[in-house]
Amino acid sequence: MTDADTGNTDPAHTDPAYTDVAVVGAGVLGCMTALEILARDPAASVTVLDRDIVGAGASRRSAGLHFPRGITERVRRMTAHSQDRYAKLLADRPELPIHPVPMTVLAARASEPGVREVYLDSAALTPVDAVAGVRLPEGHAAWDVRGGQYADVHALTQALARDLRGRATLSEGTAVTALEPGPDGVQLGLGTGRTLTAGRVVLAPGPWLAAPAWRELVAPLGARVKKIVALHIDVPPAPGDRVSVFHDEDAFLLPLADRGHWLFSYTCQEWDVDPDTVGDDGLSPADLRDALAVLDRYAPGLGDPRRVSGRVFCDAYGPAGEPLVSALTADRRVVFAGAANGSGYRLAPALAAEAADLIDLPAERRKP
Ligand SMILES: Cc1cc2nc3c(=O)[nH]c(=O)nc-3n(C[C@H](O)[C@H](O)[C@H](O)COP(=O)(O)OP(=O)(O)OC[C@H]3O[C@@H](n4cnc5c(N)ncnc54)[C@H](O)[C@@H]3O)c2cc1C
Repeated sequence: MTDADTGNTDPAHTDPAYTDVAVVGAGVLGCMTALEILARDPAASVTVLDRDIVGAGASRRSAGLHFPRGITERVRRMTAHSQDRYAKLLADRPELPIHPVPMTVLAARASEPGVREVYLDSAALTPVDAVAGVRLPEGHAAWDVRGGQYADVHALTQALARDLRGRATLSEGTAVTALEPGPDGVQLGLGTGRTLTAGRVVLAPGPWLAAPAWRELVAPLGARVKKIVALHIDVPPAPGDRVSVFHDEDAFLLPLADRGHWLFSYTCQEWDVDPDTVGDDGLSPADLRDALAVLDRYAPGLGDPRRVSGRVFCDAYGPAGEPLVSALTADRRVVFAGAANGSGYRLAPALAAEAADLIDLPAERRKP
């Protein structure tokens, strides 16, 4: 018997195996998407499912740097949206682990038009002659940039999940093992043996693109998974230390004041890795060699092997260097959000907004 049969209109009596929206993946993006949906429709029932605990995927390993740039017009719009959203979040809640940080961009002089094209106007690029602690190679220029910040993405994701509790159902340790779109909703098979029917589904699976439940639905998007490596340099940052962004190498050197060391991120080119195994063996000799080859160009003193360790994981990448927010079914019941090319923290607010736009929630809400 349904609530409609009994005439019961109390939402507390709705079918516990039904949710208006299921968000699959409780990383920074899944949590932000659930909050965005609830901000637009506070009465929606929202369930966030994760096979692990909140924030245990790419969000746990993120360097969490935001720089005010985007390689296409759309990514620049997303960057501006996200930058404003994070600034507002921090203004409202200064305790959040989001840390504004001074930033300098270095590039070959010949790259200056490219630098000016990708940075937002609000970054107010200002030429500087020297960067403390970093060597400016011959033929290079440097600009100070406004708007940089970094976050402890894992801690931020926990804070977002705390905000969700009581407003959404958070199902941790609950793998989605099957996903069957149908005319009356999407049936989710769960690792717990239960099922959940969802009016809409937002898939935010980070690098788990190949999970059996959605592998075939997601494959046509053309997203791939790339390894990401960052070195930890055991030198304590001083107050006021700047991030240096090495534009031509797509690398950066970030003072992680909250952890008490520097982080050096470079672009690793190992593609089609498996998120369940890629980090198992930690840094490889090739990771170290490739990272130090870039670091030594700019900060030769920092590569001392006694001080270098690191983190290894991966992220999903969209085919055109742009993140993906795409309907996976013609009726837009199932939407994919992610593949943000190693920028899933800094673009998460914009991705969440695009996903909420696309699922078109109110028209499909099932009333008790
Ligand atoms: C080393 C490193 C450095 C990075 N540095 C930066 C940076 O400086 N700036 C930046 O913006 N971005 C950075 N990124 C990228 C950014 O961290 C990611 O893009 C972002 O965290 C992705 O968030 P997400 O919520 O989409 O995915 P995730 O955090 O991976 O969350 C996906 C969730 O889905 C869950 N899941 C998977 N399969 C299932 C299933 N079958 N059922 C239920 N749940 C499932 C997983 O358990 C996981 O919790 C970095 C990433 C790495 C790895």
